[in-house]
Amino acid sequence: MAKTYVIIGGSAAGPKAASKIRRLDQEAEIIMIQKGDFLSMASCGYPYFVGGVFDDPNMLIATPTGTQRDPGFFSNVKDIKALTSTEVLSIDRKAKRVKAVNLKTGEEFEQSYDTLFIATGASAIVPNLPGKELKGISTLQSMEDAMYLKDRLKKGDIKKAVIVGGGLIGIETAEALELGGVSITVVEMLDQILSFLDWEVAKLVENHLRSKGGNVITGTGVSEFIGENGAIKAVKLADGRVLECDLAVLSIGVRPNSRLAAEAGLTIGERGGISVNTFMQTSDPFIYAGGDCVEVTNLVTHNKALWPMGDAANLQGRVAAQNIVYGNSVEYEGMIGTGICKVFDYVAGSTGLSEQMARKLGYTNIITAIHAAPDKPGFMGGAPVIIKLVADRTTCKLLGMQAVGPGDVSKRISVGAMAIYAKMHVHDLVNLDLPYAPPFSPAIDNFIAAAHLLQNKWLGRMDGISALELRKKLDAGEKPVIIDVRGPEEYEAMRLGIGEMNIPLGKVRSSLDKLPSDKSTEIILYCKISLRGYEAACFVASRGYTNVKVLEGGLCAWPFPREK
Ligand SMILES: Cc1cc2nc3c(=O)[nH]c(=O)nc-3n(C[C@H](O)[C@H](O)[C@H](O)COP(=O)(O)OP(=O)(O)OC[C@H]3O[C@@H](n4cnc5c(N)ncnc54)[C@H](O)[C@@H]3O)c2cc1C
Repeated sequence: MAKTYVIIGGSAAGPKAASKIRRLDQEAEIIMIQKGDFLSMASCGYPYFVGGVFDDPNMLIATPTGTQRDPGFFSNVKDIKALTSTEVLSIDRKAKRVKAVNLKTGEEFEQSYDTLFIATGASAIVPNLPGKELKGISTLQSMEDAMYLKDRLKKGDIKKAVIVGGGLIGIETAEALELGGVSITVVEMLDQILSFLDWEVAKLVENHLRSKGGNVITGTGVSEFIGENGAIKAVKLADGRVLECDLAVLSIGVRPNSRLAAEAGLTIGERGGISVNTFMQTSDPFIYAGGDCVEVTNLVTHNKALWPMGDAANLQGRVAAQNIVYGNSVEYEGMIGTGICKVFDYVAGSTGLSEQMARKLGYTNIITAIHAAPDKPGFMGGAPVIIKLVADRTTCKLLGMQAVGPGDVSKRISVGAMAIYAKMHVHDLVNLDLPYAPPFSPAIDNFIAAAHLLQNKWLGRMDGISALELRKKLDAGEKPVIIDVRGPEEYEAMRLGIGEMNIPLGKVRSSLDKLPSDKSTEIILYCKISLRGYEAACFVASRGYTNVKVLEGGLCAWPFPREK
């Protein structure tokens, strides 16, 4: 007898599971129930719609060939019954039935199932602050939100906007609004934006955002929304500052929509998401779940985590569908935490753990390497990519990687993600056979070069210092000898101004008399990316100096103000 499969949720994980079930079982009855008015929305595209990369909202719900993914499409093409504007109110597990309501007509009905898939997603967190009901306060979580923001931009009635929360969605929203001609301020409670990055890496992204006209306030939260005639007029910060605005966008994170599952008695995990095993099966063998509403395993930390990402939602939907049709046979082991976002002409990506996350989790024996270099040879117009690798010093296996810059960050993060997933040792990474031709990368790819740096440090062949560590030393009143080994013209055009000497690399060998006679003096060398800095450091160390360091990433990775 044909089986009946019911899917709750019709955005990413839901349609993915429904479509895969259909491919595997041509006889089944498949019913997808979606609360919202739209199906298969490309939520990740909302910021680009708002920011004007494209203007037709239908493109967010269209196939690559332009067909609308509406109930007619699901019915005709996939023989899937998709009910929109319909909310599932409860699940009767004993009777294997859901109760739902058509939100347009108010009509309630019941639908039985053989197996159920829950993909109810997540909702934006709205802080319970005075004034939160004012007009002009929005999130960017739904098609409706995206259309609201686009509409306001079109009307031209937003001059200033405050983005509350400097995470991935907050920063993408900031870019979209700034591109739409709005003056934006991002307010972030932590002391940095993009918390998946380490502070000094996030600061590089913040500097870029500022260079595009955006304002960023870190280290304080919002305490109140101030209105006039029912509409937002300003945002008051916890430190007393008041930011005038005609729009506030809340992007302080999402919460899994697990209430329906909880009310049905399914096990909910410690992070508030629905508990599933690696087959994406809940505590009820006839109910599977996937996407933003579930908890998954972080394969680096082995802890349970919420991971509200579109790629993961689709992969989980695919795994669940196969197990629903064939019985538990394929697994979704977990994620490692890979993400990426565009910030104007810059990209910020990360995979695995940042150094600060790793330390918080109790990893104490950590080794890091910061590498900066163009992503192609200079004659091909290479653009910088700054990479930070974080590894366990005991095993020298990667715990995480971050990359930022105007160059091709995505490729390097993808390779890093594979390396972490496969638990590769740094010795495996230093000789990787990656594709090379000048239009695509340097002969030694940036990722491999970063691994070389890590290996050099791990083997004790190079001692490095990060910009953050150097800044702390200087702030503490320490006075290491600092040498910029770039040419005089480069030095004239741009310099740190932290008490450094300029001794061009070609002159280092003949300038030993400029170095202190005490061979234990700390000497820090650098150049634009610290390749020449490393050359110079090798020579200086060979002359008996015992405390020679390279400023990792050089000027490119320096996140603090420069003299020039
Ligand atoms: C602005 C923005 C940018 C993003 N960018 C990226 C990105 O670049 N990369 C990335 O990987 N991820 C990104 N994401 C995250 C990604 O969109 C989500 O992880 C993904 O949509 C999750 O899919 P889902 O199916 O689990 O949940 P959702 O997409 O949230 O869909 C769940 C659906 O279930 C419906 N529903 C809920 N309860 C019920 C009920 N009781 N009955 C019926 N229906 C119900 C909801 O209406 C909703 O439409 C972004 C998200 C946003 C908002």
